[in-house]
Amino acid sequence: MKIVTVIGNRPQFVKAAAVSRLLRERHDEVLVHTGQHHDDELSTIFFEELSVPRPDLELHIAGGTNTDQTGRMLADIGPLLARERPDVVLVYGDTNSTLAGGLAAAQATIPVVHIEAGMRSFDRTMPEELNRVLTDHLSDVLLCPSQTAVDNLRREGVAGRVELVGDVMVDVAMLFQPRAKADLGPLRDAGVAPGEFVLATSHRAANVDDPVRLRRLVDLLLAVGEPLVLPLHPRTGARLDAAGWLDELQAAEHVSLTPPLGYMAFTSLLTNARAVLTDSGGVQKEAYLAAAPCVTMRDTTEWVETVEAGWNVLVDLDADAALSALHHTPPSERPQLYGDGRAGERVVAAIG
Ligand code: UDP
Repeated sequence: MKIVTVIGNRPQFVKAAAVSRLLRERHDEVLVHTGQHHDDELSTIFFEELSVPRPDLELHIAGGTNTDQTGRMLADIGPLLARERPDVVLVYGDTNSTLAGGLAAAQATIPVVHIEAGMRSFDRTMPEELNRVLTDHLSDVLLCPSQTAVDNLRREGVAGRVELVGDVMVDVAMLFQPRAKADLGPLRDAGVAPGEFVLATSHRAANVDDPVRLRRLVDLLLAVGEPLVLPLHPRTGARLDAAGWLDELQAAEHVSLTPPLGYMAFTSLLTNARAVLTDSGGVQKEAYLAAAPCVTMRDTTEWVETVEAGWNVLVDLDADAALSALHHTPPSERPQLYGDGRAGERVVAAIG
């Protein structure tokens, strides 16, 4: 079969690392990179470190509003599919690249396979939630990371075939976390010791685009009374810089600011952190796998099982709640929530 896979941003490069090489043992894959994340720190390094095959086609579509970006992607992917004539289009997760790839394929009556289907935060103000719901409803094969995701899709009555395969990001984390944990170089670079720091990430539009919320984020980070490593997403860096608040974080003694890190350096910090403070989707479940208690700076999550298991606490941008959650002791049990690390194999089997 000929498969066009559409990817475009950091977590999708991680997800493709679990699938692309396996897929190519049985099928011809044309990997399309939309360009949503295009620089070395958010893109190139992931292809190199995780041995993701180089993109066959790059669309260089970045920036603009969500609608503008999705529109430009649609305009390019439509003719691309007409040229390539694949049997299947594969998309991952919940980004503009996911929706554009899925919709362009569905309009061309090419079957769509959606990996990480069925996730819901039930917050329709999140652009990611709109992308998830719409992509699920136009997909022919919906491959879910958890039973909760399967149940969400059944409740919504999606038209496509639903399968539980596990989470492809777990495959990658299980493979790389032990090696990354043993490398303390990134901790030395950040000036922190194993088990004695909090690793923080923030880039959700709802937290960084609105100056009032961004200020609450800064105050929360400043209030953390222990070493904190903050690899700064370019979007967050730009908003902080524009607001004039980057200097405050730089000057704070407990804060170690770094550029966005490659997967191995980031995973070294994650697996050696005392706790994780994030608004990322992927980082919540990677923290769970690494047995790092997670505090999530959102009021909803699509990774509900981590909260139910007692390893993740939702605090939105409430600094007091975050400080107390950072000292919450997680339970001794940490059940396997998102599969056994072989989701990639099941994805390939499901495609046929
Ligand atoms: N990540 C990374 N370097 C960083 C921050 C995150 O390699 O500096 C990885 C992280 O391990 C995870 C993915 O990027 O695999 C999560 O991406 P992000 O938080 O951008 O997206 P989300 O999951 O929130 O959509």
